[in-house]
Amino acid sequence: MYKEIQQSIEKTLPPLYLERRIGCTNTSVYGGLHHFLEKNLHQIKKNLEDREMRQRVTVLEEAFSQYSYLKRRERELLVTNTIEDLQILQAKTSYSLWNLPVSSIQGVGKKRSEGLGRLGIRSIGQLFSLLPRYYEDRRKTVKISELTPSFEMAYSMKGCIKRLSTFKTKSGYSILRITIDDGSGRIDAIWFNQMYLNQILKEGTEVYLRGRLSRKTYEEKRRLELSSPLLEREGDEPLLTRRLVPIYPTTEGLSQREIQRILREALKEYLPLVEDPLPVSFIKRLNLLGLKEAIEKIHDPKAPREYERGRDRLAFDELLYLQLRLVKRRKERRRGLGLEHTRGSSFTKEYLSQLPFSLTPSQLEVWEEIEEEMESHRQMSRLLQGDVGSGKTVIAALSLLKAVEGDYQGAFMAPTEILAEQHYLDLREEFEGLGISVGLLTGGMGVKEKEEIKEGLKDKSIQVIIGTHSLFQEGVDFHELGLIIIDEQHRFGVRERGLLLEKGIRADLLVMTATPIPRSLAMTLYGDLDLSIIRGLPPNRRPITTKLFKDHNTKVQEILLKELHQGHQVYYVCPHIQKNEDLGLAAVEERVNEIARLYEPFSTSMIHGGMKREEKNQVMQDFREHRIQILVATTVIEVGVNHPQATLMVIEDAHVFGLSQLHQLRGRVGRGEKRSSCLLLGDPTTETGKKRLCAMLDCQNGFQIAEEDLKIRGPGDFLGERQHGIPMLKIADLLRDATLLRRARELALSLIERGELKKTSLTLLGLFLSGKEERPV
Ligand code: ADP
Ligand code: MG
Repeated sequence: MYKEIQQSIEKTLPPLYLERRIGCTNTSVYGGLHHFLEKNLHQIKKNLEDREMRQRVTVLEEAFSQYSYLKRRERELLVTNTIEDLQILQAKTSYSLWNLPVSSIQGVGKKRSEGLGRLGIRSIGQLFSLLPRYYEDRRKTVKISELTPSFEMAYSMKGCIKRLSTFKTKSGYSILRITIDDGSGRIDAIWFNQMYLNQILKEGTEVYLRGRLSRKTYEEKRRLELSSPLLEREGDEPLLTRRLVPIYPTTEGLSQREIQRILREALKEYLPLVEDPLPVSFIKRLNLLGLKEAIEKIHDPKAPREYERGRDRLAFDELLYLQLRLVKRRKERRRGLGLEHTRGSSFTKEYLSQLPFSLTPSQLEVWEEIEEEMESHRQMSRLLQGDVGSGKTVIAALSLLKAVEGDYQGAFMAPTEILAEQHYLDLREEFEGLGISVGLLTGGMGVKEKEEIKEGLKDKSIQVIIGTHSLFQEGVDFHELGLIIIDEQHRFGVRERGLLLEKGIRADLLVMTATPIPRSLAMTLYGDLDLSIIRGLPPNRRPITTKLFKDHNTKVQEILLKELHQGHQVYYVCPHIQKNEDLGLAAVEERVNEIARLYEPFSTSMIHGGMKREEKNQVMQDFREHRIQILVATTVIEVGVNHPQATLMVIEDAHVFGLSQLHQLRGRVGRGEKRSSCLLLGDPTTETGKKRLCAMLDCQNGFQIAEEDLKIRGPGDFLGERQHGIPMLKIADLLRDATLLRRARELALSLIERGELKKTSLTLLGLFLSGKEERPV
C-alpha cells in the first residue's frame, strides 16, 4: 500500500516540476496536466488511510478538475501547493515504509521475524542499518590444478559439470556427487540429503562453488573433494558466490544464509522506495553518500572500500539525530524561564577579597560567564570542566553566594561522603563569616540529624546545603532552590542528574568535572549543556614527578622517608579493603600494619568506604591536622580531596586502575606550591596495563590523559556502567568518527538555531527525529 502511494507520487512529481518551470501552461503532459493529475491523485487517494491526508488530496483533485479555467497566478499557486503536499505525503510514506515490520518482506514469516527480533531488528529500516560483521571476498576463483590439500579455508571455483550421480549410503543418506572441470583439472563435490539440487543441475551446467575440502576423503582416499559447498549456476543472480559477501551477525534459528537472503529480498523490494531525509545539497556539501546508495554499498559492495563510505553515511545519520536531540533540548532549556539572580553581589566581592590568592584569568573568565548567565532569565545548564586541582571549588563557592544574595537556596552535591564533608568544613567557616547558614546532609547521618536538616531546608533556615546524592532523595524539599551544583559529575549517573532537575525545576544547574572528557564524548554526553573551561592550573604549581617501581623496594622507602622527615604527608592507595588470596592485590587493612611498622615512629592510619562516618571524619580530621603522616586508603580519596600539605602519592598495583582514575589519584598531591611526587608500584603484565602506566609517566595534562584513556579502552568502557543512560551508538564510533561527529554537531546547531526543521524539504528528517525522541536520551 505504502509502496503504491510512493510509486504514484514519484510518477506525479516530475510533471509538476516541469509545469512550474514552463510557466503553468497546462502542457507539461501530453493531453493536459489536469487529466494526468486527476488520475494520479485519485490513485494516491485510493491507497491512503490517513483521513486528513485523504481530504487534502480530494481538495487538490477537485482543484485540478478546474485547472484549465484557472488564471496563471492561480495555477502557479495550485501547482506549488500540490508539490508541497505531495512532498509531505512522500515523507510520511517513506517514514512508514522504513518502519514497516520485517514480516512485510517476502519470505519472512513468524519464525524469521522472531529471529531478527533477537538481533534487535524489527523494521525494514533497522534491517537496512544492520552492519555486516565482515565481508568475504568470493570474487576470485582458484584453478583446480592449483589447489593444495589445506582444509581450514574455503575456496571459490568455477567449472562445468562433467558427471553427476546420486546414491544412498548404508546409513540411509542420499548423496549427490558431481565432477566439475575448469579446464585446468577436475574435482568432485558432494552433498548429503540435498536432492533438490539434482533437479536444477545436469551435465554441462556451468556452476560456481564455494566451500572447504574434505579432510576425511583426503586422508582415506588421497583425493581432493569439496564437501557440501555453496552452489550457484551461471545465470543465477550472484548472492553467495562471485561477489563480496557480507557476513552478518546470526542468532539461534536464523542462519547466515537466511539473513543474506532476507536482505537480498528486502533490498529488491524496498530499497528503491527509500527516500533520503537529507536533501541532496547537504549530502554534497558533507561529502556523503545518498541513503539509498549507502545502504546498497553496505549490503552489496562492489569493491572492498565501498562499504566504508556507506557505513559513514549511516554513522553520520546516527550522530546527527543524537545531536539534534541534544541541541534541541539545550535550546528548550535556554528558552525555559530560569531564575534571574541578583545583579552584582556583595557576598562574592567580600569572599573574593578574603581569599589568600586572586583568581587566575581563566577562573575569572569562567566566573563572568556563570555570573552573567545566572543573572539572565535563561535557565543555566552548564558544564564546568577543569583539570584536577584547577580550582573549581572557588567557582562553586562564588555561584552559591550569588544565589544566596538573591535570597535563594543553593545545593552543592558531591559523590562521596568524604568530599561532601570536606566541602562543608571549607565553606562553612567562610560562609558563616558572611552570616550565611550552611548545612550538611549525607547518607551516613543519623535519622534525627537528617530530619533537622530537612526542616531547615523547608523553612529556609539553611541557605546552603552540601551533601551527597541523598540531597535529592524523597522527602527533601526546598523552600526556594535557586542553584544546584554537582561536583565531580562523572561519578554520578545520568539518572541522578535527571532526578535532580526534576526537583528544582527552575533552578540553575552547574555541573563540574575534573575528568576531562575528550571533546568528542563531551559533545555526546553533555551536548545539551553549555561549556565553561578552566584552562591550566593556578600559578606556582610544580609538575608532579611520577616514577614507576615494580614493588615497595628500598628506593621507594628512601623516597617516603625523605618526604616524612621534611614534615610532609603521604597518601598510600591500595586497590582493595581486605586481602583476597585469589586476586593477590594489595589491601588496605593488611598494608596499614606493615606500613606502620616500616615507618615507625611516623603515624599511619587508614580510610576506606567500609568505615563508619564518624571514623572516617576522625581520620580525615587527624590527617588534616597533621596527626597522621601516612594515610593508607582505597580510592575513596580519588576525587576532590584537597589537602595541599600532602606531597607524596603512592599507588600500589597501579596497573589495575584506569588511567583517568590514576590521574585523579595523582591529583591529590601537587595542590600547593611544594614539590610533589607520585610513585606507581606495579608490574603490568598486559599490554593495556603497560600503556596506561606509560601514559602516566609521559603526561600530566588531564585532557591528553583522557584522550589516551579513550584510545586504550574504547568509548563503551570509558563511559562505564554508570553512564548507561547514554544512548549506545550502534553504528558510529566516537573515536573513529570524530570528524563526522563534528559535522553532525554543526549541522544540528544550524538546523535548530535557524528553525529549519519545519521546512518541507526536511519533513522526513523531522519525522525520523521525532521517532527517536520517543526514547529518552
Ligand atoms: P579542583 O578543581 O580539583 O576541585 P580545588 O578547587 O580543590 O581544585 O583547588 C585546588 C587548590 O587550589 C585549592 O587548595 C585551592 O585553594 C587552590 N586554588 C584555587 N584557585 C587558586 C588560585 N587562583 N591561585 C592559587 N591557588 C588556587
Ligand atoms: Mg574539586
